[in-house]
Amino acid sequence: MSQALAVLGGPPTSERAWPVWPIADPGLRENLDEVLASGRWTISNLYRGAPSFEQRFAEAWAASVGVAHCTPTASGTTALTVALEACGVGAGDEVIVPGLSWVASASAVLGINAVPILVDVDPDTFCLDPAAVERALSDRTAAITAVHLYSAVADLDALGMISERHAIPLIEDCAQAHGARHRGRSVGSIGSAGCFSMQGSKLMTSGEGGAVTTNDRRISELAEHLRADGRSRSSVPPAAGSMELLETAVIMGSNACMSEFHAAVLLAQLPHLEQRSAARAATAARLDQLLSALGCTPQTSSEGTTRRAYYRYAFKVPDDVVSSSSADSIARALSAELGFPLAATHRVLNDNPLIRPATRKRFALGPDHQVAIDPARFDLPVATEVYRSTITFGHEILLAPLEAMDDIAAAVDKVLVRVDELT
Ligand SMILES: *Cc1c(COP(=O)(O)O)cnc(C)c1O
Repeated sequence: MSQALAVLGGPPTSERAWPVWPIADPGLRENLDEVLASGRWTISNLYRGAPSFEQRFAEAWAASVGVAHCTPTASGTTALTVALEACGVGAGDEVIVPGLSWVASASAVLGINAVPILVDVDPDTFCLDPAAVERALSDRTAAITAVHLYSAVADLDALGMISERHAIPLIEDCAQAHGARHRGRSVGSIGSAGCFSMQGSKLMTSGEGGAVTTNDRRISELAEHLRADGRSRSSVPPAAGSMELLETAVIMGSNACMSEFHAAVLLAQLPHLEQRSAARAATAARLDQLLSALGCTPQTSSEGTTRRAYYRYAFKVPDDVVSSSSADSIARALSAELGFPLAATHRVLNDNPLIRPATRKRFALGPDHQVAIDPARFDLPVATEVYRSTITFGHEILLAPLEAMDDIAAAVDKVLVRVDELT
């Protein structure tokens, strides 16, 4: 007979010290010192005779993703905003967005006065369901945002085909998928543009930050302008003491530049991405086996995925367990057993307290627009089912030793056996 659940006062399953994220990598402080001493803390300071960290990071990240162009941005949200506008999306346009994602996938669309069309997801990968995308297309659809959620790559074969057939740009929201691959190519290199976030929880992070990747020279040129108040970098290095950003004004922009400090942190972190991805994939594979043996269903990835990036590990609990308790209360019980936070998935976007456009005057663009952007008008049964039955936790835990996965499985076993005690 196992002991009482930790959440009800019993002894926890594990007292292990779990890894934490983010990690201050070697070389990071040296890079930051270099920025401090350089007299140039952002690309909109005067050129000091050496390439900016921002430009060095852009080149390194473009090479890592396998694209011709990378434009760093202040955040993943601004990366999405910039990519959408660089792809020609604007006021009144419809953008297809998965109903299960972090709120920014939808709020970035609202931010450019466009209309997020929330579309249901696949029950196994939790990413956009291509058949549901087809049904949601209209003559106002101006873009499709595919989110590579948690550890899955969206169905880029099917979504790419839809995008091509209807000549609608496919934007990859890669905020959770640094290093993931589809048929050997990195995510962020397959759609018209890829959008990355470097926010503190992400697989590459400078606390805040983002990037737009693309192989399209025109999209890149617009992205450069959109994030730097309509300015772009001079094609030849300027004289020291002059501005590197020129007022080229191909399109009006706003300031969403990444600072030199952020770029310096990312440049120090990039060399560790590969090795950390491999470590996470190994522990995740072990956990897949252990949890499947307990009747749970780990999230899968789309056909054609050649490498998964684990931002959050996600698994569904068995149906009979869901009917007797919520994912929320199971996650709380598991957190108490293990000593690190587990949670349900993101709240479904048609019922998410953070997506309430009616609370902001900037979205009051007339009665039709207000009806169009009301998230409650979308029906998302599969996403809702995923939210009801799925438990997730952060990628840092997958950097624990392989045998630590046994602790997680033991905790899941204990909580599922005693799930009736949670009500
Ligand atoms: C984090 C995230 C974003 C937004 O990135 P920020 O850097 O926080 O602005 C967008 N989409 C998804 C899927 C995310 O997880």
